[in-house]
Amino acid sequence: MKKLLFLAAIIFSASSLMAQTEVIAHRGFHAKQGANSANNTISALQHAQDLGVYGSEVDINETKDGKLVAVHGPNHQNYNVQNTDFAVLRATPVHNGEKLPTLEEYLLQAKKSKKTKLIIEIKSHNTPERETRVVKKILDEVKRLKMTKHVEYIAFSKHVCDEVVKYAPKKTKIAYLNGDLTPQQCKENGYTGIDYNFGTMKKHPEWIQQSHDLGLTVNIWTVNNTNDLQWCIDNKADYITTDNPIEANRLLGK
Ligand code: MG
Repeated sequence: MKKLLFLAAIIFSASSLMAQTEVIAHRGFHAKQGANSANNTISALQHAQDLGVYGSEVDINETKDGKLVAVHGPNHQNYNVQNTDFAVLRATPVHNGEKLPTLEEYLLQAKKSKKTKLIIEIKSHNTPERETRVVKKILDEVKRLKMTKHVEYIAFSKHVCDEVVKYAPKKTKIAYLNGDLTPQQCKENGYTGIDYNFGTMKKHPEWIQQSHDLGLTVNIWTVNNTNDLQWCIDNKADYITTDNPIEANRLLGK
């Protein structure tokens, strides 16, 4: 009997560990104190890796001449990223002085950590054809660098999500960001999770349990203050995307 109870305790603690909310650094851990980092830079990714969080999010856009770059957009300094050639963008540093990273450089840095996954947000582009091309190029680059298991995807564009479902290897994770589909609709589209903003989830807290019942993950963005982070943890979100991973870790007892 004692053995059985012991076994039950192990199983229970293992399952509660598995259920703990994980932290994703929004655009990398760019807000690290005293670090002079910036959104989507290589240093922001490094700081997230140093912290050992589950994931580091990055925004990927295609330049006018077809290069994939890590930048939120639509603008980099005075240039519209998707309408400007890479050389021009590259010659213009990010505001902290770092150069604008390519997807390849970002993936090579991501590869240095076994623990911290790279969460690639594939940005919306101006035509479905261009979005399809961008999805295929990103998937090819990730495959070429043998990073398939190290990368997850998110997107606001349904077309981008659908193309990831169509072209990515089985088991690839793709979560929808735009907040206007129910968990059931996301499931029917083949997405693996919802990744909705905090306001949407406060309006639809029932979507958390519905998602879990459907086998979908729940990520909530961009949650930065203590009360909101605690709400996500109490309501059993799988992931919190935050600019404040230190506070999220503290609330999780990490
Ligand atoms: Mg993003």
